[in-house]
Amino acid sequence: MVRTCPACRNEVRVFTVEPPRSEPVVAAPAAAIPAAGGEPVQAPPCARHPGNAAVTACTRCGDFVCNVCATPVEGTVLCVRCFEFKHSHGELVAQKSGFGTPRTSLALGILSVLCMGFCWLGIVFGPGAIITGVSAVRQIRRQPGLPGEKLAVAGIVLGSLGTLACLVFFTWLIAKR
Ligand SMILES: [Zn+2]
Ligand SMILES: [Zn+2]
Repeated sequence: MVRTCPACRNEVRVFTVEPPRSEPVVAAPAAAIPAAGGEPVQAPPCARHPGNAAVTACTRCGDFVCNVCATPVEGTVLCVRCFEFKHSHGELVAQKSGFGTPRTSLALGILSVLCMGFCWLGIVFGPGAIITGVSAVRQIRRQPGLPGEKLAVAGIVLGSLGTLACLVFFTWLIAKR
């Protein structure tokens, strides 16, 4: 079929391809909408931007993503929604490895127990372990993908023990005089 282009007045040959009968025909919304350059966009379109052609698919949900939406994360490509989900749930490797509060809490808890009232530093390490442990647990509740909840709880328990031992020791010291 030969048509005249309305823009340049050149005659162009138009080929139409019939889709196979057995397959359901899915209308690609992008096919009808011209992109910024004026060229009709070839399907598949981006799930968020129907005017943009997809460059790849999200590795998590499988949505088509355009250049704007494709978010390269730790060797995979995510759509914006999945990136925000992973980020808000603390599921990114960088977030997990950078989250050291539970380890700090556990270390302080162990130190406070090692002091066991024989060293005044126990009164610093103990409450320190409790404070960092509680803040770690709170953050893990908000972002369930973050690791170390057990470490943080252990830190709180050990910190409480260390603090208690210190208090008992100081009380005993004062009472002895
Ligand atoms: Zn996705
Ligand atoms: Zn997009």
